Amino acid sequence: MYYREDTIEVNVGNLIIGGSNQVLLQSMTNTKTSDAKATIEQVGLLAAAGAALVRVAVPDSQALQALPEIVSKSTVPIVADIHFDYKLALGAIEAGVAKLRINPGNIGSQERVKQIIALAKKKGTAIRVGVNMGSIGEAENKVKYALQVLDEYISFFKENKFHALVISLKASDVTTNLELNKKYAKNYKYPLHLGVTEAGFGTDAIVRSSVGIGSLLLKGLGNTVRVSVAGNPLQELPIAKAILQSVGLLENAVEIIACPTCGRTSLDTEKVAREVKEKTKDLGRKLKIAVMGCEVNGPGEAADADYGICGSKKQGIIFAKGKIVKKVPMENVVDELLKMVNGEE
Ligand code: SF4
Repeated sequence: MYYREDTIEVNVGNLIIGGSNQVLLQSMTNTKTSDAKATIEQVGLLAAAGAALVRVAVPDSQALQALPEIVSKSTVPIVADIHFDYKLALGAIEAGVAKLRINPGNIGSQERVKQIIALAKKKGTAIRVGVNMGSIGEAENKVKYALQVLDEYISFFKENKFHALVISLKASDVTTNLELNKKYAKNYKYPLHLGVTEAGFGTDAIVRSSVGIGSLLLKGLGNTVRVSVAGNPLQELPIAKAILQSVGLLENAVEIIACPTCGRTSLDTEKVAREVKEKTKDLGRKLKIAVMGCEVNGPGEAADADYGICGSKKQGIIFAKGKIVKKVPMENVVDELLKMVNGEE
């Protein structure tokens, strides 16, 4: 099995995907790419929300025309998503995108894919080869067939001495998604981009993505991640970050844990946890903070948190690594906690 850190490193703009490098978050714009202004604005918002690279669809020549400006004004590497038209792929490479996302099966001919490979090699552009179960058609054993198709693509890239490849194998069914990616990792060392396609909206999308992506991350697979949610793509990043954080792969970020409360609680943990999360979001270091409802179980149950607060009948309590360090008036508990977190105490 080739785990995350066993994969080869692929340069994508100023980023390195694969090997022991950080797992990166990716997102995709849903503006018309031909509208450079709107797309640049959305790329900026996605980048500010945590996307390390952003994919844009390039469905036509108008979109292609907007690409140079989008690439030059973006603070993160741009990935061009191309289907069917190899000329759009060639144009996107010329426009300076850091990576192409193509399905070699719908580009037309091997000769056309060869032209894309030759130009990508010359310009140092990476290529993500994606196989989605939805596009596999009718096959008796779809997983086996998808992997066969992928193997043919990879062999073709190898024959043409192109190695800056990232691979994605996605299904909307999380069990199939898991099986596909696990089987892939038995044989190949190219970095893996993880996602669950057509994950849906709202809670369904969150759960499907968390289970689908999280299960693979926990197996030690995956170098980039994209959560897909119907609607505004800005929704994707907090979910993706929370998935990475819950499996211990989000660096330099504060993790807030909170108890669900019960009849013992003297603290509105939801309200206070939200406040603490908001006030520590720019701290820029890894820290676990607990917000617990009562002193009976709070400090003990959250003993692995670096800092924590809990309610008691008369006061707010601040604890660190399970030990009570201070008792303060309830209305000051968050401010006192923040002072401690910021080293002002
Ligand atoms: S920490 Fe206290 S308030 Fe929270 S669930 Fe446990 S017992 Fe209830």
